Amino acid sequence: MPEVKVVQQFMQANDSVAADNRRLLAERGVVAVNLMASPGAGKTSLILRTIEALDGRARIGVIEGDTASQIDADRVATTGVPVVQVNTGGGCHLDAPMVRSALDALPLDDMDLLLIENVGNLVCPAGFRLGESQNVVIASVPEGDDKPYKYPAMFIAADVVVVNKIDLLPYLDFDLPAFRRLVQGVNPRARVFETSCRTDEGLSDWVDWLDGLRARPG
Ligand code: MG
Ligand code: ZN
Repeated sequence: MPEVKVVQQFMQANDSVAADNRRLLAERGVVAVNLMASPGAGKTSLILRTIEALDGRARIGVIEGDTASQIDADRVATTGVPVVQVNTGGGCHLDAPMVRSALDALPLDDMDLLLIENVGNLVCPAGFRLGESQNVVIASVPEGDDKPYKYPAMFIAADVVVVNKIDLLPYLDFDLPAFRRLVQGVNPRARVFETSCRTDEGLSDWVDWLDGLRARPG
């Protein structure tokens, strides 16, 4: 089956570049966090609120992955932090070589934390290591509480799950305890944070966790 062999070789190539990225980031003392979610879960909003909340505590850089546009990178750039846009040309995930080129364009020596916004997609980003030290899945309340059941690979890959838009809980049929049980079922080691970028509820726990990563990179 030559097709299978090609795929495996490609994945190995990705993993080896991801290992290079990880080494480079470690040498420069930068902790990288890969943020994955479906479109509209609030990845960019969470990045913007995180930059604001960590102001003066950590020097942040951002990689924005998108299929085509750069509107998210433009929003991040207004905060003044260094940001690099990676357009995948329609591709549905970031891979390690894309991140590698973006790292060359970032001032790594002046950064402590790299936030990588992956392409909005709950399927294949889980399969591509980028050189990150932590994988985060953002699941938002309007998407429903069954996501860990429908996209288990994504939740298995997660070190942390953020339930975003919790300000909408009173208006929607999102069962938070049921969601937490589903996460626990597929990935008992995943930590769960609950956030709202509109009300700031829960943001400090998330931000404290990010800030704490710098003390224990890897
Ligand atoms: Mg975005
Ligand atoms: Zn993909």
